[in-house]
Amino acid sequence: MKLEGSKLLSRNEIHALISNGLNYVYFSKKLEPIYRRQYQHEAALEFRYRAPIIFLLYIYLSYGIYQNLSETEQASQWLLLYSWVGIIIFIAWLFSFVRRFDHLFDIYAGLGCSAAIAISFMIITSVQNNNDALLHAAMMYAVIIVYSFVGLRFYTALIAGWFGGFTAILITKLLNYPIDWAFLNRTYTFSSVLGMSLAYAIDRQHRENYLQNCIIELNKLEMAQQSEQLERLTQLDALTGLANRRHLTTVLDQQWNMALRHQMPLSILMVDIDFFKEYNDHLGHLAGDICLQKIAHELQLITSRSTDLAARYGGEEFLLMFPLQEEHQIETIALKLLAHISNLALPHPSSSISPYVTVSIGAATIVPQAHDALSAFIQSADDALYLAKSNGRNQFFMQKKPAA
Ligand code: GH3
Ligand code: MG
Ligand code: MG
Repeated sequence: MKLEGSKLLSRNEIHALISNGLNYVYFSKKLEPIYRRQYQHEAALEFRYRAPIIFLLYIYLSYGIYQNLSETEQASQWLLLYSWVGIIIFIAWLFSFVRRFDHLFDIYAGLGCSAAIAISFMIITSVQNNNDALLHAAMMYAVIIVYSFVGLRFYTALIAGWFGGFTAILITKLLNYPIDWAFLNRTYTFSSVLGMSLAYAIDRQHRENYLQNCIIELNKLEMAQQSEQLERLTQLDALTGLANRRHLTTVLDQQWNMALRHQMPLSILMVDIDFFKEYNDHLGHLAGDICLQKIAHELQLITSRSTDLAARYGGEEFLLMFPLQEEHQIETIALKLLAHISNLALPHPSSSISPYVTVSIGAATIVPQAHDALSAFIQSADDALYLAKSNGRNQFFMQKKPAA
């Protein structure tokens, strides 16, 4: 499954989370790490195309500022500092291409963001012309981009944003640069509040999308399970639980082709309950059904290998398929089956050959050749069954040379 969250949560839990669990933009202790792993991978992928956009905006702004500062001494001072922002964007962009670093996206992007904000902030206080609107615009741009376009989750963006700002204030204080608090307060605070609001809304939306996708994933899983179950049901006989005739035809066809291709033996047993009409007439149809189920259970047991198959062929007639079994092996199986049915000791008061339910079995084995037909092979087992019946029932007969 693609989204691990859908393994962890039920549909109801997801719905509850969507309706009232997103306000804190933080999932439960169990789900949060799973979600973060997934989102960090996606965020890293997205950053590959977001970074060039950020870079273009950065270049555009840099050009404007440089023109404004023109040839002054401040221009080179500014350039020296501000080029670091470009370098940071570039390095983070390179990191986003390394899959191994995906789980570190919060860290490398967060650190980059802090540094970019700190530098943009420092420029305002260190470059003397500190009321230049473009320098403030650059800082606001950095703050808003960090919050809303890098792809960080709300809390990470919050830490990165404020950490950058406070670091810059601290350094400015340490270096004794002047700070125009009145102006800076408006620009930095305003952009931070706007950025945080955006980050919150984006995070919330992203989490909701994630949960919706988990529901889609759950739906898909459920549908796949249902269709698998339906498929199984269409292959089974309702009364006995054995394969039905349609499924038998498909499987037998496959095994026939396989035996033909690899020149391997394929054996079938045609099993028919003796005097079953009398059984029904005497004990009732319901008892007949139960008898069919008990016999079917024995047939199921005897076809225990994964390639064997027991199918209900007609009313009280069954076909057992045994790939790779030779004549002598199939003979042993048929005798074993007769013994098992005899051990069942199901009373059959109206049978003229035994006080218990018995079956007759027709067997056929073949290593198919190109000119052989599957239908003729089945017919040969049916012919053998007919002979078992006419020889007195409660026995098996093997057609040594199946009709081509
Ligand atoms: P033979 O020994 O020659 O096989 O005789 P038979 O009576 O077993 O064979 P016949 O073909 O004359 O009758 C088969 C009977 O199987 C008739 C039918 O009522 C019964 N039968 C078929 N399907 C079902 C079923 O699903 N439930 C029950 N209870 N009886 C069934
Ligand atoms: Mg019968
Ligand atoms: Mg019959």
